[in-house]
Amino acid sequence: MPHDPLTAEQREIRGLVRSLARVRIEPRAAEIDRTAEFPWDVVELFRENGLFGLMFDEEHGASVASALMTLVAIEEVAKVCATSALILAVQELGSLGIKLAGSDEQKQRFLPKLASGEWLAAYALTEAGSGSDSAALRSEARRDGDDYVLNGTKRFITNAGVAHLYIFFAKTDPAGGHDGIGAFVVEADTPGFQVGRIEPKMGIRGSTTGELLFDDCRVPAANRLGAEGEGFPLAMRILDRSRPGIAAQGLGLAQGATDYALAYAKERETFGESIAKHQLVAGMLADMETKCAAARTLLYRCAQVIDSGDDGSELTKLSAITKLFCTDVAMEVTTDAVQVLGGYGYIQEYPVERMMRDAKITQIYEGTNQIQRLVIAREMLRD
Ligand SMILES: Cc1cc2nc3c(=O)[nH]c(=O)nc-3n(C[C@H](O)[C@H](O)[C@H](O)COP(=O)(O)OP(=O)(O)OC[C@H]3O[C@@H](n4cnc5c(N)ncnc54)[C@H](O)[C@@H]3O)c2cc1C
Repeated sequence: MPHDPLTAEQREIRGLVRSLARVRIEPRAAEIDRTAEFPWDVVELFRENGLFGLMFDEEHGASVASALMTLVAIEEVAKVCATSALILAVQELGSLGIKLAGSDEQKQRFLPKLASGEWLAAYALTEAGSGSDSAALRSEARRDGDDYVLNGTKRFITNAGVAHLYIFFAKTDPAGGHDGIGAFVVEADTPGFQVGRIEPKMGIRGSTTGELLFDDCRVPAANRLGAEGEGFPLAMRILDRSRPGIAAQGLGLAQGATDYALAYAKERETFGESIAKHQLVAGMLADMETKCAAARTLLYRCAQVIDSGDDGSELTKLSAITKLFCTDVAMEVTTDAVQVLGGYGYIQEYPVERMMRDAKITQIYEGTNQIQRLVIAREMLRD
């Protein structure tokens, strides 16, 4: 891209992440997909190079706390491996509750471990009967003296079984609606907490997605985030801030697929010339690049709004627009990349079929793209 809004220092960080991704993660990506094993070596690589620290401030053991650089890092990693990129995105998703609503004591207790990557985090909102309609959750948190007793089952939770800390949303008032929900930090070794079934899935196969079981799980009241009834608005504020991470994952998939398809199209010949010279293929490549460029502009705008400290309604709408656009682009562009490679696109020796499978989830999690459209329309009507 001719115009690059990053400063020289930011370009240097991007360069570091890009080369780690190319040299260390890309050669592992097909194997991670095939074995569906969580890539602890990639976590170690992120730890060694301080990448988890991009999302945290100095006070909590990091140096940058830049939404822009976090999103740039997610994009660079997702160009070669969407499972690995999700490790960064979910570290942010699982930490945001503490950053946004944690007391100073909670921040000191948890954030340094998350900033170094010593601990991984998870965000546990979804249940069997409540995905899009997340306020319909049925898990319960009952106050008992200085503790809360947690009961319920969460489903489809990313980092199940690998996270050290889970942000658990539950009804503190079983008869209450949106304002009867609380948010709690649960450490993985708390008695009464167990990881249930891990789901085999279509894409992002190295990421764990699983069930969490809470059976009279007792946590101190000091682990509650914010006031008792503030859990649901917090869950939504977290998603406003974390959805750009999924947008960045989608953009990385789209750009990675475009770059791969372009290189392939220059080499592959039919009818005496490279397929890139056939106008129908060239047109597809141009559309793919155009969609990526437009997606990146939106993503960077969203990062700017977050970094400027705006946490209000502009962010709700912009973050939904960005997630919707970037992840629809991910699906369209990765599908086109398979088409550019022809039969080779469909077989596992080439990475684009994996990218297409990985892209699908970006349209579903952290609010399906139908839900993003509803959020955008609601904000338009409010404007
Ligand atoms: C791999 C994976 C990882 C995940 N990670 C996490 C995680 O870490 N933490 C977590 O809490 N959750 C996680 N989820 C859950 C995910 O966010 C939900 O699956 C998603 O929000 C959709 O909920 P649902 O599956 O219950 O679908 P449903 O809500 O049942 O929706 C089914 C369909 O109906 C549509 N729909 C629903 N309501 C409306 C409406 N009002 N208008 C129009 N269309 C509508 C949806 O768009 C969808 O197409 C994950 C899911 C997967 C598959």
